[in-house]
Amino acid sequence: MDMTFIDEVKSRRTFAIISHPDAGKTTLTEQLLLFGGAIRAAGTVKGKKTGKYATSDWMEIEKQRGISVTSSVMQFDYSGKRINILDTPGHQDFSEDTYRTLMAVDSAVMIIDAAKGIEAQTLKLFKVCKMRGIPIFTFVNKLDRQGREPLEIMEELEEVLGIESYAMNWPIGMGKEFLGIYDRYHKRIEQFRVEDDKRFLPLNDEGELDGDYEIKNSSLYDQALEDVLLLNEAGNEFTTDRLQNGEVTPVFFGSALTNFGVQTFLETYLQFAPMPQPRKTDQGEVAATEEEFSGFIFKIQANMNPAHRDRIAFLRICSGQFERGMPVQLSRTGKTIKLSSSTSFLADDRNTVDNAVSGDIIGIHDTGNYQIGDTLSGGKKNFAFEKLPQFTPELFMRVTAKNVMKQKHFHKGINQLVQEGAIQLYKTYRTDEIILGAVGQLQFEVFEHRMKNEYNTDVMMENIGSKIARWIENEEDVKDAMSSQRSMLVKDRYGKLVFLFENDFAMRWFSDKHPEIKLYSLL
Ligand code: GDP
Repeated sequence: MDMTFIDEVKSRRTFAIISHPDAGKTTLTEQLLLFGGAIRAAGTVKGKKTGKYATSDWMEIEKQRGISVTSSVMQFDYSGKRINILDTPGHQDFSEDTYRTLMAVDSAVMIIDAAKGIEAQTLKLFKVCKMRGIPIFTFVNKLDRQGREPLEIMEELEEVLGIESYAMNWPIGMGKEFLGIYDRYHKRIEQFRVEDDKRFLPLNDEGELDGDYEIKNSSLYDQALEDVLLLNEAGNEFTTDRLQNGEVTPVFFGSALTNFGVQTFLETYLQFAPMPQPRKTDQGEVAATEEEFSGFIFKIQANMNPAHRDRIAFLRICSGQFERGMPVQLSRTGKTIKLSSSTSFLADDRNTVDNAVSGDIIGIHDTGNYQIGDTLSGGKKNFAFEKLPQFTPELFMRVTAKNVMKQKHFHKGINQLVQEGAIQLYKTYRTDEIILGAVGQLQFEVFEHRMKNEYNTDVMMENIGSKIARWIENEEDVKDAMSSQRSMLVKDRYGKLVFLFENDFAMRWFSDKHPEIKLYSLL
């Protein structure tokens, strides 16, 4: 049966997984894709593990790093819904793109390693989600191993992240003694490592098991009942509204590796995750169900192969439906462009799109037309979606052209890459030396590579390390003498003053010495 446009939009669920490396993002993603039938066997999400993408010439750096553009967006169907998972590269691949991807989703799934709790990268990504006020679902992973006490993890969520937690299910034991989960939402117990027909045991109205089940003989079962009783009485309140507002996160316990609790998680997620949400523009909100096509570009992936200069611009559709060859207006320039070549991301194949609507991501072939944050729209009205935020960089490099004769190319390259959003530009105060800022090391590598290949310029990069960047509310009070090795004064690309502090200590020392200077950070 053909779905109407509105039904199509309502069926979309677009999310990103936020986690620290090794928490189990790849493993969970693979299991989800398996449920959707999008891949045949686990182990195919990252080329790293199978070498599957080794033949792709799409992006040399990606190839070297064993990641693939095709894993940037994964799409699958489940239970009448079309699900888009947007990858958030981490570790050495962490970059501003990782943050910007979170601007393109309607919800997030946070994976936490039960033994490690909340880790650095999770915290960074969480903050961006919280700022956007999107619903966050929590999956506490690796219950098949001994980890922290579940109550301790719930408390950590509240204390470190400042979000209330609501246990959708509760573990019965852990590690070697992991028996399963008490599923408060489905009112059943899901048993770990039992035959399929014994997996789900229904709970009665009192929330207990009737009948003669082995699990009842375990003290861990009694303990779980007690814990759940406590949660019922003293736990946080869960409502769809509170979830939508980012006030509370539903918490699921499970084990991605043994595929335990993943399906239950997915099904509960689909009950509560929002469909594509309205988006703010400079002319009011655009609803996902509006028929006129619109979207914004949140990421541009350059091809590192010198023989293929093409790039892919990732566009989140915010309203309407994509049609091949459709003319769209680029808001920034007012130019009309034909969207002829594009790809969708169905699991591990780069298919061409036939049916993309609000909530979906399409990859548009780009010969240099687009910048990150650009709005494309199909109607007559020219409007722009809310600007993407600028993120506080943490890593800095001083950069110069190796060949002084190449200054022109050098500046052109830098300006274009900065405009495109690949890297952030700063200049030293008074002396105007160029300093580049990034949130991840990969951005510098991509910069260096593209300067050479696209602008024919070899650059010299001097690492000045990680810094804490702080902008200044009262710039008029800043004096030259405040700039030092440990509190370096620079200007951002808009000419705003920024202090780059060597570390936390240097920043506090500065604030003690100059209490009149009001510092603030971007995201
Ligand atoms: P990512 O870096 O977040 O993508 O993490 P991966 O999915 O690659 O997992 C990191 C490691 O943790 C791998 O060795 C996985 O096999 C392992 N792992 C993932 N999920 C589980 C789990 O539920 N239980 C256990 N014991 N190990 C897991």
